[in-house]
Parts: sequence; C-alpha cells; structure tokens
Amino acid sequence: MATTAAGLMNFLDDEIAKLKSEGRFISLRVLETAQKPVSTIDGKEVVNLTSNNYLDLADDSRLKKAAVKAIENYGVGTAAVRPIIGTMDVHQELERRLAEFKGTPAALVFQSGFTVNVACCQSLMTDEKDLLISDELNHASIIDGARLAKAPRKIYPHKDMKALKAILESPESRTARRRMIVTDGVFSMDGDIAPLPAIVDLAERYGAFVMVDDAHASGVLGKNGRGTPSHFGLTDRVQIQIGTLSKAIASLGGYVAGSQSLRDYLISTGRPFLFSSSHPPSVAATCLAALDVLMSEPQRIEKLWDNTRYFKDGLKSLGFDTGASETPITPVMVGDTAKAQRFSQRLFEEGVFALAICYPIVARGKERLRTIVTSGHTRKNLDFALEKFGQVGRELDIIAKR
Ligand SMILES: *Cc1c(COP(=O)(O)O)cnc(C)c1O
Repeated sequence: MATTAAGLMNFLDDEIAKLKSEGRFISLRVLETAQKPVSTIDGKEVVNLTSNNYLDLADDSRLKKAAVKAIENYGVGTAAVRPIIGTMDVHQELERRLAEFKGTPAALVFQSGFTVNVACCQSLMTDEKDLLISDELNHASIIDGARLAKAPRKIYPHKDMKALKAILESPESRTARRRMIVTDGVFSMDGDIAPLPAIVDLAERYGAFVMVDDAHASGVLGKNGRGTPSHFGLTDRVQIQIGTLSKAIASLGGYVAGSQSLRDYLISTGRPFLFSSSHPPSVAATCLAALDVLMSEPQRIEKLWDNTRYFKDGLKSLGFDTGASETPITPVMVGDTAKAQRFSQRLFEEGVFALAICYPIVARGKERLRTIVTSGHTRKNLDFALEKFGQVGRELDIIAKR
C-alpha cells in the first residue's frame, strides 16, 4: 500500500520516542519577563540561575535606549549580507571597539558565537595537510567547525598537557602544513579555566597557533572582562580570540579578534559571513553601549565575582560537590539523570530555576544542575536559593540530612 505524503515523516515519532526514553527530549520553558535575576518563567516567579546574563545587562536602560536610537536612525534590518551591502558604519564601529577591547589590531563580527567558530575552523584548516588540535570538552560549535574543516583533527583529553605535547610531537603534527590548537577559555559545563600559559608555551615550541573561545570569559575574566588571554597576560601570544556578544554583552553575535590579515582573510572566506545576513543595526548599537558599561563600571565584574564566591561557598558548606569550577558557572553534581531532573523540578516548584544537564551533553555519571550567578543577584536572592538547594538536596538524599 502506498504511504501517504505525511506518513513519510512517521520516523519522527519513533525518533522522538527514542529521545524521550533516553531522557534527551527537550521541551521549552518560556520566559515572560526580561532576562533578570528574578524572572517569571512558565507563569512562576523564580530566582533565575540559568542565564548567561553575567553582568545583568539584558534589561539595562542604557542598552535599550541605544537599541531604540539605532532603530530610529538606521531602521530595523539590513536586508543584506555583510559583503554585499549589509555593513553599516555602526557595524564597523563595533569592530573597531571590539579590537580595542581585546587588545588586537582588528576584529570581525559574525551572526553568533556558533558561526564564528565554524568559520574560523573551516577557513583556517583548509587542507588535509593541516592539523586541528582540540580539547575534548570544547563547545559544540568547535566540534562542528572541525567537521567542516578539511584538516584531520586530534582531540586531547580535557586540559591534559602531556597528551597535547604528545600530539604536537607526533609525525602527523611534525609534517603538517599548519597546526591550530583550539580551546575554550572557560569551559561551559564545568566552569573551569583552560591552562592557557601551558598551551601557549607548547604552541610556540612546536610552531602551532592558538584559538581561544572566550564565550564565557568575555565580560567575566581579565581586565574589564577582556577574557582569558588578558587574565593570564598572554594577549600578544594568542593569535585568535573568539568572543560572543550573546552572553555578558547581553545581545547577539560572535566575533574574532586578531590581526588585520585575519580579518581581511575571513571577510573573503568565512562562509557564514559571506552567505548569511548581518545583524540589525540595533544589535551593533546595543553591543557598543554594553562595551561602554564594561569600561565605566568595573564594579559589576567585582560584584559578579563576589556573588560567585558567596554562592559557591554556600553550596560547598551545604555539602554539595561543585566539581572543578573556578568561575561563575558552578555545577552541582548529582550523577544520575532522573535524580538531576527531579532536583531541578523540585527547586523550580520552590522558586529557584537551575537547569539539569545530563548525558549526552555531559558524560554518564556526571549529570548535574548547572548554576550561573550574575552581578544582579542580591544577597537575599542567593540566600533564598541556597536555602532551597539545602532543603531539596536533603529531601532527595543528594546531601546528608542534618
Ligand atoms: C555559548 C557558546 C558559544 C556560542 O555563542 P552564541 O553567540 O550563543 O552562538 C560558543 N562557544 C562557547 C564556549 C559557548 O559557551
């Protein structure tokens, strides 16, 4: 019997059933306010420990005004890709300011952090004689970029510098045309920091260049939030700095900061840059206003780190395992999918939102809740969250009963 036209897609129901049985099916939660320290999610007001709104800028009046003004001056969209006629002066101005921020000669903005990573891996690793060397816990966009690159890839165990050295000493590396080491600056699930000094030393010794994805470090680490190269005093020794405008900067986009040649080359070869339209001018204007705040209000970053220390210490003294975190991303280890999901759900009922992160995003046995504090959380918000973590953690036997 002939299958109906719609019936040809029946495999989706099987796939969805499989995702559900594996605990990988995602249903969307809906935010009904701006992204704030206390937000309304699915009709409930909760202390929000899930966003990347590190510096509490998503609802900042100065950023909002900048966006509105740009809409009035330039309209709502560009209706073009950057290399055709989608580049406005406000886009160029943002790139000048990002280069200054990162301490590099030039910068280039892409539609997102995801697309800039894909573009850099794909455009810089163009031959089978190149070698892309990557930390096993790098972001999905680096993994996908590496898949689109012509170069073979070698993955080293997380932050394992002996293994990185062995790769650099291998015949494939020694005979390679180009070697690129790629690492997240701050790892997004564990909140630990890349050993950049050791990576840069090895890179220089074996003639590799280094690409650092500072999506979670920009606005968080280094002087005025310049990122991990600034944090370690390595700005002049890291050739490619990636940042996102979608996290601490609270808008949308990604960028690469480096030499003028890097910018020039990617304008002509970066496929997302060439074939996908540019940001509305309001996005660029919002980012410019955010950079002004980063420069003029370093106390926001201090508050972010105060809150980070307070919340992390609070979780530890309740008896939770917070893994290897060194940054505002603090995992609360659970070690079981059903229990992590139950933990998240019970906390939500009690007025705290922290997302469960399970296999395959993290390895089996490493299931956790992931928390991110922002500079906007008050002590009262954090004390409330800690009290609920304690209560629900004891209820589910994740920590010892008092
Ligand atoms: C979030 C993230 C990205 C993607 O950034 P977007 O601007 O949201 O596309 C890239 N790399 C890392 C490490 C991230 O955490």
